[in-house]
Amino acid sequence: MFPVLTNAVSVVKDLIFHPICLGCGGLCDEHADFRHVCARCSPLMVQVQEPHCDGCEHPFWGVVVGERICPHCEGMRPLYGRAKTTVLFKGPARELVLALKYRGGTFALEDMKVLIQKNQALGDFVRAAILVPVPLHPRKLRSRGYTQSVLLAELLERVPQAQELGEEEVA
Ligand SMILES: [Zn+2]
Ligand SMILES: [Zn+2]
Repeated sequence: MFPVLTNAVSVVKDLIFHPICLGCGGLCDEHADFRHVCARCSPLMVQVQEPHCDGCEHPFWGVVVGERICPHCEGMRPLYGRAKTTVLFKGPARELVLALKYRGGTFALEDMKVLIQKNQALGDFVRAAILVPVPLHPRKLRSRGYTQSVLLAELLERVPQAQELGEEEVA
C-alpha cells in the first residue's frame, strides 16, 4: 500500500479505535504520554541521560568520573565531532524507527516528538543549528514516498525547546 494511503487508513483507524501499542500489541491509553506505545511499554524506551559516552551518548550505568568514551567510539574513531542520542534503539523505540523507516508509519513522528521534547539537552544542542537531512536514494524515495530524515529535521525545527516551553508557561 502507498505510504500516504497507509497513513490515511491509520488516522481513520485511530479515530475509531485506540492505537495498538508497537511494543506489546495491546491497546494504548489515550491519556498516556505516547500515542503508539502503551504506559506499560513506555518505560522500556531507554531515554539517554548522563553519564554517557562523550562521542555517541551511549549511557553508562554507574558512577563515571571525568570524560569517557565507549568501546564502540574508541574502536571506530567516528569522523563526526559529537552525536546526540535521545533514546536507545531497542524495544518500542526501535519499533517506532522501523515503522517510520520501512512501513510508511509517519504516525511514529507523533511519539518521536514527545521523546525529543523530553530531551532538553537535544533541544539546546539544535538551537540555532543548521539541520541538514541525510538524502535518500531516489529509488527509495519513490517507493517510500518521503525522506525520514527530512521529516525528523522538520520535527526538530518545530519542537519548542524545553526552556522555551518553561518560558511560555511562566508568561
Ligand atoms: Zn505495550
Ligand atoms: Zn560512544
